[in-house]
Amino acid sequence: MKDPFGRSIEYLRVSVTDRCNLRCGYCMPQEDMPMLPHTEILQYEEIERLVGIMAGLGVKRVRLTGGEPLMRKDIERVAAGIKRVKGIEFLGLTTNAVLLADKAETLLEAGIDGVNISLDTTSLERYELFTRRNTFAQAMQGLQKALSLPFASVKINCVLSPQSLPADWLGVIKLAQTLPADVRLIEWMPMTTDTQGAAVQAPEALRTIEEHFGTLTPAKQTAPAGPAEYWTLPGFLGRVGVIHAMSKCFCTSCNRVRLTAVGDLKLCLFYDEGIALKPLLRGGMANEEIASAITQAVARKPLRHQGKKMGAAGAAASATSLIDRPCGMYRVGG
Ligand code: SAM
Ligand code: SF4
Repeated sequence: MKDPFGRSIEYLRVSVTDRCNLRCGYCMPQEDMPMLPHTEILQYEEIERLVGIMAGLGVKRVRLTGGEPLMRKDIERVAAGIKRVKGIEFLGLTTNAVLLADKAETLLEAGIDGVNISLDTTSLERYELFTRRNTFAQAMQGLQKALSLPFASVKINCVLSPQSLPADWLGVIKLAQTLPADVRLIEWMPMTTDTQGAAVQAPEALRTIEEHFGTLTPAKQTAPAGPAEYWTLPGFLGRVGVIHAMSKCFCTSCNRVRLTAVGDLKLCLFYDEGIALKPLLRGGMANEEIASAITQAVARKPLRHQGKKMGAAGAAASATSLIDRPCGMYRVGG
């Protein structure tokens, strides 16, 4: 499936819940938000069916995200269902790792290939400030547990948010000195109003890393190429990666779409535009009709983002099934 700019859509991120056991300021609003009722959330059979339809259209890689995906009680069943779909070559999971120590084994058995763990600091006090929760020890146990199992990859994601200090992300980078895990710095994207201000961007962070840990040598890009650029550091087991979400636009090679927990297919992280698939699934549509609706929606994938959250550009002028439902990062899954 190609969009009008010739980009092949091969990667689907599936948010399986809007619930989370943390409250990272850059992702979730500080005040208590109403959580979606369970009846609104896609069931595991519905997710499997949609992934099957999308695999038929060329999707090869799927990542489970949230909210916190491990808050979903049937997460292993969701994973096993997707893994059964013909054509899916890689199934990843992005998690804050708080519940991972308990679930890592069953997730591996269910077919998860790679785990990305989000961790923005290695300081207990700073973790509690960032996440507004006191689960640092569980998250570190989750990381250790994942590394002790034969996942194809375990990576650590660290957001360079306006709250972060160099000591926070340098501490996370340092983990790659002794652990066989790539650490990726993700540039902060201004998606909520709760986190404001200027954040350090990747070029400056890379200069600081060199001052502390030595010369960064560009690493060979591992196939299939994602948005991260990688380097090696002397004496480090893991690589250092950077996702230039803001400072360098990688939109022209974007190969992804996102399925929210309520079944909206979003075409770009920054735009509240897409297609509501749940009414089609629950309204008795055949797979071929849903596939055709998805292809039509993908024809509206924006060429690039504009560095800030956008509305549903042009949606009103088009088909009624296009959504205009504002979604925070915790609803879309990053
Ligand atoms: N709860 C899981 C976790 O934190 O890994 C999965 C969902 S979370 C929305 C997915 C990723 O998005 C995390 O790595 C998180 O750090 C990142 N993220 C959330 N808000 C962000 C923002 N405003 N800018 C950059 N990355 C963000
Ligand atoms: Fe939860 Fe992940 Fe968002 Fe943090 S980044 S609030 S862990 S969904």
